Amino acid sequence: MKILKSEKKFCLLCMEEHVVETVEMTEHEIFKGEEVSFTSHYEYCYSTGDFLETEEMFRANNFAMKEAYREKLERS
Ligand SMILES: [Zn+2]
Repeated sequence: MKILKSEKKFCLLCMEEHVVETVEMTEHEIFKGEEVSFTSHYEYCYSTGDFLETEEMFRANNFAMKEAYREKLERS
């Protein structure tokens, strides 16, 4: 996991203002029976120890997963 940015803002996980980190990680998921690896982004809350996916991140992460799936099919 890599920290891309730290920013003080209102955290939607604990509903308090604090430094929220934007992190990058490699994820492995099964999509349509194929295991795919892709880079995804999340916000991390220290208070709850949880990751939050903003709507924008959700779309980007979902797209990255489908791209990885498409590339895997092309390679095979
Ligand atoms: Zn929080």
